[in-house]
Amino acid sequence: MPDSADLACYDHELVLPLGWFMHGDGPQSRWFFYADGRPGPSPQRTRALWRMLAEHAGHDVRLLGEETDWAEAYDFPRLPDVGGLGDIAFEQYLDGWPRSRSAPVTGPDLRPVSLVSIEDAVAMPLGLLDAAGAPDERYLVQPDGSPSEGVPLLTRAVWRMLATHVYRDVRLVLDVPSGFERLDEHFGVEAWPDAD
Ligand SMILES: [Zn+2]
Repeated sequence: MPDSADLACYDHELVLPLGWFMHGDGPQSRWFFYADGRPGPSPQRTRALWRMLAEHAGHDVRLLGEETDWAEAYDFPRLPDVGGLGDIAFEQYLDGWPRSRSAPVTGPDLRPVSLVSIEDAVAMPLGLLDAAGAPDERYLVQPDGSPSEGVPLLTRAVWRMLATHVYRDVRLVLDVPSGFERLDEHFGVEAWPDAD
């Protein structure tokens, strides 16, 4: 049976629909697919994901499956779903983001961000951001200062981490919790279908 998943910030009431996946062979075989059956997310959906990961790092962000107790997230404004329906167009959401690319690559406010699965004690480091910066200036960078969204392997690994952890307690946190296994950009490289 196909199932869908969303990423939601409960602090700011925003939902990014991630896509559909098949339940059949267990979490490790999951990948998101879209309206035309294509396995890869569109570049716009991927950019929207990176913006959400940067802008809402440290907030009450949750990964929701279709059968999760959605509660109030049902009513949050939504980016387009796989059928193109939503309250906020990708063009609108991504317009002018990030406002600048002048974030410092050092300094006390530069914080690591990771997606973590609490029950599995795994963390996917996403990069660093200037936590003191204005929200629309936030973007994640690698230690060399290049944008995280520009690393294709990392992008694939993040999508796979989300797909394989639907129905786990996934959070978007500042800093990497101690004792958590660190995943890296090679997570899921082999088991992921090509986007084209
Ligand atoms: Zn937020």
